[in-house]
Amino acid sequence: MNDRIIIKNGTIVTMNDADDVIFGGTVVIEGDRITDVGTASDVAGRSDEGGAVVMDAADEAVMPGLVDLHYHTTLGKGWSDHMPLREYLETYWYPIIRALNPEEAYWAALASYSESIKCGVTTVNDMYRRLDGLAKAAEEIGIRAVLSNDVADDEHQLDTLEDNKTAFENSNGAANGRIEVYVGIEWLPLASEGLLKETRMLADDLGTGIHIHLNESLTEVENSKQRFGRRPTEVAYDCGILFDRCIAAHCVWLSDPEIALMRETGTQISHNPSSNAKLGNGIARVPEMLAAGLNVGLGHDAAECNNSRDLFEVMKFASLIHRASRVDPSLQQAPDVVRMATRNGSAALRHDTGELTPGKKADVITVDLANQMFTPLFPASKAHLYSHLVFAANGSAVDTTIVDGAILYRDGEFTTIDEQKVLHEANLAFQHVLDRMVVPT
Ligand SMILES: [Zn+2]
Repeated sequence: MNDRIIIKNGTIVTMNDADDVIFGGTVVIEGDRITDVGTASDVAGRSDEGGAVVMDAADEAVMPGLVDLHYHTTLGKGWSDHMPLREYLETYWYPIIRALNPEEAYWAALASYSESIKCGVTTVNDMYRRLDGLAKAAEEIGIRAVLSNDVADDEHQLDTLEDNKTAFENSNGAANGRIEVYVGIEWLPLASEGLLKETRMLADDLGTGIHIHLNESLTEVENSKQRFGRRPTEVAYDCGILFDRCIAAHCVWLSDPEIALMRETGTQISHNPSSNAKLGNGIARVPEMLAAGLNVGLGHDAAECNNSRDLFEVMKFASLIHRASRVDPSLQQAPDVVRMATRNGSAALRHDTGELTPGKKADVITVDLANQMFTPLFPASKAHLYSHLVFAANGSAVDTTIVDGAILYRDGEFTTIDEQKVLHEANLAFQHVLDRMVVPT
């Protein structure tokens, strides 16, 4: 960690309560916290640059790091891209993660997190297996990570609540609190009501949250009606899964009563529009969720069902898909979408991040404005800047990624990993797992 970092002369997209954008501003970081934000002249009058790492952010936007609220470390992508969800899970995803060992998970996580960091993501809410390997990867590369297991009923040969409890004991609070462990439930088709009830009890015992796929596809809704006699969200509600520390991913096919249950329980929603589109799962009722007052963040889901971990791309999807389907260009305005990818995701995880305000954790990115994506850019126009961030930019515009006050990535280089070695090892891990995986016949 650098003791002190001063990012000056930038366009500061604070995402604070007043939604201030400061043109020609400075952000000061000391240790793992933001200590000052203001115009360059005001901040210069309050603090000197002695001993600090000084970054000149002229022609850059400085903004909170992005929060990827539904995430899976990925070993393979672009493999079986043509399948519907259930078939894809049974013939590819589950066999791969059953065969995975901790070292392969470690390399897969480093490869996954490195792509995210390059694209300005500072927090991942990662449900996967072999959490010791994931925690090691997160600790070394420097990303903020909430990890959870893929828990299912025993016959599915994934993780158990005991695995998740062990992972919590091993890794929760590691790396200065940068790594946390939640209890993860894969989804209702692989879970009994008994398992769901025990999941909430374990989360309460550990004082942690729950991460679950919920109401992702029509087949899941049908499965729920057949097995439980009611819709997925109703089952989750009855079993105590829904509460304000539950991150419910997808929520594509929510009925009005299900939205009301989400509201009653304060459940946090991860909207993953590009994954939902690619897998042919549909379009979540985000306008209705927002109207009901739900907190909605954004996730890419997994590179297997999205292929890119670029959350800028997800932001664009999170606007366009609703405008197209409702024939309404007033939906999902750019500032609201940036808020979903920053503050909303952070609030869902109860993190002290998501805005550039003194006292908050220093998860900060800089975005290059001197390129075609941001041209033309009217001087001192907040609306123009937000529009470009959502509709024109992609993750390659990110120059610098800082987490917990540490510079992890700057000008195309990682400070914490050997990127080429990570990619090489992740390729080998994929091949080794393919050799070992057993596809059910
Ligand atoms: Zn997922």
